[in-house]
Amino acid sequence: MTKFSARFATSALALDECPRWDRIEVAIAGRSNVGKSSLLNALADAPNLARTSKTPGRTRRLNFFEVGESLALADLPGYGYAKMPQTEARRIGAAMREYLARRENLAAIVILADARRGPEEEELELKAIAKRRGLETIVAATKCDKLKQSERAAACKRFAPMRVEPILCSAVTGEGVEQLRRRILALGRDEASPRPAQASPQRAQRAPDER
Ligand code: GDP
Repeated sequence: MTKFSARFATSALALDECPRWDRIEVAIAGRSNVGKSSLLNALADAPNLARTSKTPGRTRRLNFFEVGESLALADLPGYGYAKMPQTEARRIGAAMREYLARRENLAAIVILADARRGPEEEELELKAIAKRRGLETIVAATKCDKLKQSERAAACKRFAPMRVEPILCSAVTGEGVEQLRRRILALGRDEASPRPAQASPQRAQRAPDER
């Protein structure tokens, strides 16, 4: 298994609260309940890692995890939760869009969608934002253990509108996790790959939130 040491660093409500560092950031986005926390834990092989993202007060923030020496994961708040008040949903949507459109450290996005549902409007919008900025896009089809063998090809076809081959992932069986780990680590400076052009350090106006 490839080493993927992740550690919670800080959380932010808006772009000016994001950490001041020169780490290359990889955003992880998906609707609530898609299995984002479980996949984060599986990636880091740390069963409690994403609990920090689920701590009250942090669920609606961007949570940053340091990964190795040069990378960070930016765990974006889960969207599409029907019971969330509209004003809050709008605020979260705006914070996410601002981060994705303007954060200079950002080099790539992992878009999660349930393997049984495929991408919906929100995931296609995320892909469009990533394309506009030239961010590398990785698509993870979650909970693939719920698919029968005979359903896998059709599930992959549902992802065709994303124009990126999905990685079938399961936090339960571990399928796809190592592949995803490698794709993410390859974006870092520790690997032989060149540093993405967008990943110059960003100076925020104030110190990172240390809560
Ligand atoms: P999040 O809201 O996106 O962070 O989703 P969670 O990781 O909390 O998972 C939501 C629900 O889906 C929980 O009941 C998990 O146990 C379940 N779940 C998450 N990942 C998987 C998976 O790979 N396979 C299956 N079968 N269930 C999963």
